[in-house]
Amino acid sequence: MTNRKEASKAFLKLLQEQNFYKQNLQLLQWDSHTNIPSKGLQQRAEVIGYLSEKLHQSQTSEQMKYYIDTFMEGSEDELLQALAVECKTIYDKAKKIPSQLQKAYAMQISKAEGVWAIAKEQSDYALFKPSLQRMIQLTQEMADCLGDKNQRYDTLLQQWEPGMTTEKLDGMFPALRSSLIDLLGEIKRSKRVIDETVITQSFPIDQQQAFCLQLLSNIGFDHEAGRLDTSAHPFTFGIHPDDVRITTRYDEYDLRQSIFGVLHEGGHALYEQGFAKEIMNTPLAEVSSMGMHESQALLWESWIGRSKPFWSANMPMLKKYAPQSFQQLTAEQMYTSLHHVNPSLIRVDADEVTYSLHIMLRYEIEKLLLNDELPVDELPEVWNEKMEAYLGITPLNDREGVLQDIHWASGYFGYFPTYTLGFMYAAQIFKTMEHEINATSLMETNQLTDIKDWLTTRMYKIGKRKEPLQLIQDLTNEALRPEYLIEYLTNKYKDIYQF
Ligand code: ZN
Repeated sequence: MTNRKEASKAFLKLLQEQNFYKQNLQLLQWDSHTNIPSKGLQQRAEVIGYLSEKLHQSQTSEQMKYYIDTFMEGSEDELLQALAVECKTIYDKAKKIPSQLQKAYAMQISKAEGVWAIAKEQSDYALFKPSLQRMIQLTQEMADCLGDKNQRYDTLLQQWEPGMTTEKLDGMFPALRSSLIDLLGEIKRSKRVIDETVITQSFPIDQQQAFCLQLLSNIGFDHEAGRLDTSAHPFTFGIHPDDVRITTRYDEYDLRQSIFGVLHEGGHALYEQGFAKEIMNTPLAEVSSMGMHESQALLWESWIGRSKPFWSANMPMLKKYAPQSFQQLTAEQMYTSLHHVNPSLIRVDADEVTYSLHIMLRYEIEKLLLNDELPVDELPEVWNEKMEAYLGITPLNDREGVLQDIHWASGYFGYFPTYTLGFMYAAQIFKTMEHEINATSLMETNQLTDIKDWLTTRMYKIGKRKEPLQLIQDLTNEALRPEYLIEYLTNKYKDIYQF
């Protein structure tokens, strides 16, 4: 028994050591995205490579194998068992992929990302095609090492969204897709004109910054356990629950950029700040899945930050920081101005009605690519056909079409669906919050930390101890369904566009 006790101590110590590597890696990555001088990048890449290798060696060591075998089964300590299961997933994945393939894959990513950047710049898909072809081949090989050859896409999907399958997605996405296309049709037919000029007046950046910091405080972001910086593309790095770094961007003439950057990344950050003490410094101090991570960003950005009660409660504060031209603005005008729907060729510029249509298009295409059912030669044609069918617009060039996202160059196959899953989880979770704590009335009185506390207790503190589908079931008392998202968007836009 003493041996087991000592082994558990040594196991936790090893996990802490691995976590220290991870924290260092996160901090180096954050710095590489914010502060590093350009000459430092080369050296930084080497340090990151070295530490990643060390971490990998530790995760796949004989010692780790021993701890996994010891604590996987028959352990009375539920936490130790959960840790062993998580470590086994990491161990198996690393062991199943030959190091030669792993190396070729990593090298191909850095090559493909470079070619993609040039091809996008020159709007020339033909230039990127051979790299994409090779990337697909290597991804297929990786997937075949990890899982069933006949379910390649599922294998890839589950790296980001454990438990999710194409069968489940195909049971939900078509209903969502046709509802969104119908909704977009109604909006296009509406005569209502949304006035966005009310929020595109000059708003000095230092004042925006002060307002954003206040917004973060209001949602319960712990400023002593995190910081806000600036970057071209907003992001979140959770180094540790006591050290979460987020960024936003500022445009003097478009307040929405900074506000919704902050609320989106702030949502990611609340999740990362909320992990329970007992899982800190272990591999379970992570989000349940990428879809769940996105759900929290969207819940705070859209369901809360783009709502009428939120702006009724926060208008006085906005005016405290705003210049004269904003002083007559009403909460109603503000709310309406945030809901202009306009199909865009570019996914990252899309509104909440059309965003998931961009995702469905990518999901359908990458499934075909991975299953050898679509040659890369025909990709732009299929892309453009689907854009026309779903959004009613066709890209005039590759830059605004098939070359717009870095994901496929970076090997992120199977990742896109997590964005739409994020919308669906958020809708279902918000509905439950309405029932249980009357979220709308808390928004009206700006008691947003009560919402944060509920989410922390029910979700954030659990970290990676539950897979997403189990988490949504336990949180909302039913399996994931697309109806809540459809209902949310339909009701909201019916009201705004008056149809
Ligand atoms: Zn996000």
